[in-house]
Amino acid sequence: MSSYTARTLPLHRGPAAWSVLLGAQPSARELKAEINADFTIIGAGFAGLSAARRLTQLQPSAKIVVLEAGRVAEGAAGRNSGFMIDLPHDLASDDYAGAGDDRAMIALNRRAIAFAREAVEQYRIDPNYFDAAGKVNGAASAAGHVHNKSYARHLASLGETSEMLDPQQMYELTGSRHYRSGLFTPGTVMLQPAGYVRGLAAGLVGDGVAVFENSAVTGFQKQGGAWQVRTARGAVSTGAVILTVNGHLESFGIETDRLMQLFLFAAMTPELDVDLMALIGGQPRWGVTPSDPMGTTMRRIDTGQGGNRIITRTCAALRPGMAATPRDLERASRVMQRKFDQRFPQLAGLPMQYQWAGHLCLSLNGVSVARQIEPDVFSGCVQNGLGTARGTLTGIAAAERACGYNSDITRHFEAEHPPKRLPPQPFRELGANAVLRWKEWRARDE
Ligand SMILES: Cc1cc2nc3c(=O)[nH]c(=O)nc-3n(C[C@H](O)[C@H](O)[C@H](O)COP(=O)(O)OP(=O)(O)OC[C@H]3O[C@@H](n4cnc5c(N)ncnc54)[C@H](O)[C@@H]3O)c2cc1C
Repeated sequence: MSSYTARTLPLHRGPAAWSVLLGAQPSARELKAEINADFTIIGAGFAGLSAARRLTQLQPSAKIVVLEAGRVAEGAAGRNSGFMIDLPHDLASDDYAGAGDDRAMIALNRRAIAFAREAVEQYRIDPNYFDAAGKVNGAASAAGHVHNKSYARHLASLGETSEMLDPQQMYELTGSRHYRSGLFTPGTVMLQPAGYVRGLAAGLVGDGVAVFENSAVTGFQKQGGAWQVRTARGAVSTGAVILTVNGHLESFGIETDRLMQLFLFAAMTPELDVDLMALIGGQPRWGVTPSDPMGTTMRRIDTGQGGNRIITRTCAALRPGMAATPRDLERASRVMQRKFDQRFPQLAGLPMQYQWAGHLCLSLNGVSVARQIEPDVFSGCVQNGLGTARGTLTGIAAAERACGYNSDITRHFEAEHPPKRLPPQPFRELGANAVLRWKEWRARDE
């Protein structure tokens, strides 16, 4: 196949609140000319920007172009919960224990975190946006506590440390009496995701990478010896194309009917004033993932990260058309308000300032697509919901492959099976959403 056309472009529902908190970005540089490049990266999320950084390390004199459909940090990169997790975090399991070689995955996740840390230091990104504070798996029920205990045993078998917190310690941390236990693990980095991603993009620009925003790629094709990458108002003639568009890989006709186009939802309070903070108590920064992977993630941030606020994340919907519907967001917003009120009855009814949906991409068998698609076309896509770390890794892998470089990261992804084929439509959407609702119901208060 030597010609690819983007059938669908990203469509966002609700604001990318993490980016809004940081204030306006400098005006976008849009591609409005025909230019040349050695490497053209499509998509400027965790994967695309990590690919660009890895290319600058491997081929410092190469001409690197990044084309982003919207603004940097306004896609999923500015819509997630910001947990850059080192440990197994298998969303399809009951307790996050992975089905594969967890030791190898932990080592790779830590490579991703080290790669990001180096960028933070080199580009002088605000350390508040990359806070190595660890996280807690909160359990609200006896079943959740059982998950936490089984996960702790699994971690111990891998030689990983964790600490079980009792209800009082959870209360002192979060100000919420909702949790009956919490499993603290120290290795997660809590990102201000938009701050990190914007800082990464700015650093790359300083290193000579040309980042074009509002420059959606409509297609690319082989012409003569080069690939011609088209946007609405410009084109790049390039030696190699790196696709880091996450689920939009399928928009280009790659891995069709094998990628689960999932939307997650989140909500953020307004800035809490002194009186509201006194009502909550607890610590100014913490992150709690649910002991049941289909439960609710909660996070508190402080002024260093965008104001004293609480973020709630819950609900999921599979939308093969690659857009969450207004009804999806309305429903999720109602559920998120209920989850927030349940955890913080002292603030019950506090209206959220921001509510949004974000796109992520999973495969049925939990694999990524980080490999060569055809000569000089590479993919660093499909993060299975863990895109802060996995996206960093797939971006590194795609860049390394594009330079003909092999590492344990490229070998890891190349050894993975292809994504499994999904059931046909409409069964895929109906079936998956029924299962998601059931799992949501089963997670109950978690
Ligand atoms: C509510 C929510 C909470 C989450 N929480 C976490 C978490 O705590 N930890 C974690 O690890 N992950 C989390 N995730 C998942 C994480 O955000 C994603 O896995 C991650 O953003 C994927 O990174 P990526 O670079 O592969 O893709 P993306 O961040 O989606 O970046 C792809 C980019 O490609 C661009 N693009 C697409 N098509 C084109 C085109 N034709 N031309 C040009 N550009 C294009 C898009 O605009 C986008 O910016 C969460 C996601 C959501 C929605």
